Amino acid sequence: MDFLHNIAVIGAGMAGLSAARALQQAGRNVQIFDKGRRPGGRMSSRHNDHGLFDLGAQYFTVRDPEFAQFITAFEQQGSVARWPGIMARQIDGQWQAQPPEHPRYSGMPSMAALTDALSEPMKVHQQVRITSMTRTGSTWTLEDQKEQQWSGFDHVIVAIPAPQAALLLKGISTSLRPQTNMSPCWSTWVRFRGALDMPSGIENWHGALLESSPVLRWAGRNQTRPGQHEGERLTLLANDDWSDKHLEDAADQVADRMIKAFQDCYPAPLPAIDACGAHRWRYAQPCQTPENTPGYLIEKPTQLSLCGDWCIDGRVEAAWLSGSRLAQALCGQ
Ligand SMILES: Cc1cc2nc3c(=O)[nH]c(=O)nc-3n(C[C@H](O)[C@H](O)[C@H](O)COP(=O)(O)OP(=O)(O)OC[C@H]3O[C@@H](n4cnc5c(N)ncnc54)[C@H](O)[C@@H]3O)c2cc1C
Repeated sequence: MDFLHNIAVIGAGMAGLSAARALQQAGRNVQIFDKGRRPGGRMSSRHNDHGLFDLGAQYFTVRDPEFAQFITAFEQQGSVARWPGIMARQIDGQWQAQPPEHPRYSGMPSMAALTDALSEPMKVHQQVRITSMTRTGSTWTLEDQKEQQWSGFDHVIVAIPAPQAALLLKGISTSLRPQTNMSPCWSTWVRFRGALDMPSGIENWHGALLESSPVLRWAGRNQTRPGQHEGERLTLLANDDWSDKHLEDAADQVADRMIKAFQDCYPAPLPAIDACGAHRWRYAQPCQTPENTPGYLIEKPTQLSLCGDWCIDGRVEAAWLSGSRLAQALCGQ
């Protein structure tokens, strides 16, 4: 490939940020575009009048040595710490303590702290949704929702969920086909007036896997995250089937039903509720894991590439690896 100097990255989630950071460190001129108000994508956190809630990724594991090195640097800097320290599991209707098999980490005080720190030295154009892309000669021009054009890019990285990437690439002459389906997830936040009573035999829990619930798969107590302290604030995640079946339901009804499902599986009465709400992730996690890919897709003649968790699997670490491997491939030409 020719030397690539000006690179556009569409999507400021973990994958896009990881690619952009490595390319910037290698001396490339990188601009990132994201439709959201802040970077982070599915790792973003919500701060409202009732406190701080993580409604997307709840924690992440660290297995790859390069990712471990990357995380250690942010741990030393104070934007990442281990969490949940104390796990519970509800299986066959019983609550049990569950020591985590692998260390798990969270941003400190919330997941967004990591993507905020990662994006800090970079140029991110927020609230810019790219609606089309055109290649003229050897450069790309992007157009956003306000019909503003951004031109002069030698290469474009599309780092967004596969179904959204497929839509953006429609009409472009390319052999890249992001065909992975992604499952939805309803996520509910709830602020209680008092502390939860603990199940008997468990003194405290930070996060719980809810395997017997027909509705829920996870409950996390946000105030137990490193750097957070007060106020009983739960995040509840619905399982794939339930989320799919209730995808178009109203958010307030979804929140009520998910809280009721939590009460149905929790072995103590819940405290009074101060406030609650629900967020729908239409593309939460990839349904399949692609085979025989290096963790990204590149088309050299058109100078177009794709990365994201869906190129490996639905985890924060996979998203980082996808972006970082793509950047290495682009720098190695
Ligand atoms: C509810 C939930 C729970 C999860 N739990 C865990 C967990 O516990 N552990 C774990 O490891 N992983 C978990 N995950 C998965 C994890 O969040 C993802 O694997 C990872 O964050 C994906 O990063 P990404 O960069 O590939 O995509 P994203 O984070 O989706 O980033 C894509 C970005 O692209 C932007 N974008 C999209 N279209 C456009 C456009 N046209 N123009 C401009 N910008 C655009 C979006 O705003 C977004 O910021 C969870 C995900 C969800 C939703």
